[in-house]
Amino acid sequence: MANPGNSFSQLVETCSSGGGEALPNPLSGHPRYEKVGDLGKGSQGFVLLCSDKFTGERVAIKFLRRGLASSEKIRRELLNMRPFWHAHVIQFYEVFLTDLYVCIVMEYAPGGSLSHYLAKNVLTEDVARFFFQQLIFAVRYCHHMKVANRDIKLENTLLDADRKLLKLCDFGLSKDNNDSMCKTRVGTPNYLAPEIINMRKGGTYDGKACDVWACGVMLYVMLFRSFPFERPEDRGLDPKVAMLSLMERIVKGDWNVPKESNMSAGALDLLGRILEPVAEKRITVEGIINHPWYQIHLPPGADKPNYPKRPEEGLQTVESIVEILMEANNTDEMMMG
Ligand code: ATP
Ligand code: MG
Repeated sequence: MANPGNSFSQLVETCSSGGGEALPNPLSGHPRYEKVGDLGKGSQGFVLLCSDKFTGERVAIKFLRRGLASSEKIRRELLNMRPFWHAHVIQFYEVFLTDLYVCIVMEYAPGGSLSHYLAKNVLTEDVARFFFQQLIFAVRYCHHMKVANRDIKLENTLLDADRKLLKLCDFGLSKDNNDSMCKTRVGTPNYLAPEIINMRKGGTYDGKACDVWACGVMLYVMLFRSFPFERPEDRGLDPKVAMLSLMERIVKGDWNVPKESNMSAGALDLLGRILEPVAEKRITVEGIINHPWYQIHLPPGADKPNYPKRPEEGLQTVESIVEILMEANNTDEMMMG
């Protein structure tokens, strides 16, 4: 699990400090791609802004260390992302290897992450809804494609150049399963649904309902600029104790609306239906889309899904991706070579 240091004030500091030292450049001498800049560092790897020398196009490339990162996890990330073809989901382009890394080439989102955006901008309720509507469209599409993201959070929600179009990224924890029942406890603490925390050994939970919960956390942060289950008094505590209090509040659904809030009754009603601790009682994606608050200012027809299949032409086949990943695991050869 990623670390819990997610209080919004910390988040603002991290975002505005520019993120520390420069990331490495594993692309020197690469025939096609060259590094242009740094985009971000996650718990699993790092992402660079690169240029495609053939087309001049800007792309984002995620670098995951060969042999160190779980190959099953990378396989899921790649195979789950491969068929996605949707305005609100970052598109996979191709995967290749360097001596040290598995390199995932994907669509570049120039507007940065929603966490960066929130660090510098206070959202009105209308703007929060505008982003939330797009997030829900992305999630509905992923679920339609039988994939639960399981790591929906501000850092994995990117923006286009105008900062109007939202795009979901990072399918590193995604789960492909027809019934989406999951067995492993994964995610980022502030966004974990109660059923993930409560799960007993051998138990399962519905990844889709957990995605809905994480969208509720996102909505709360967009509306109130704080996380729903964090409290100021947790700050000085031992991290383990603070984590335990956080988990206890999540399980109880112990969140409240800040006193000074002037958000509408509709927004609060929807929030209450999403941050419902009992998964079976929680509103579904379709329920959210039909909620009156969600429907406000929704462009006509936007709620009618239209999911054309991604053309296979020019797209790496599943077989060739699997082959590349098998080669990536030949770390012995790699070390000797
Ligand atoms: P974690 O597991 O910590 O969530 P990760 O190691 O799986 O992260 P990503 O979340 O995929 O890595 O990427 C890390 C960061 O890089 C993102 O939070 C974002 O700021 C930036 N980033 C990732 N993909 C793109 C992209 N396509 N365009 C622009 N920036 C990106
Ligand atoms: Mg991430």
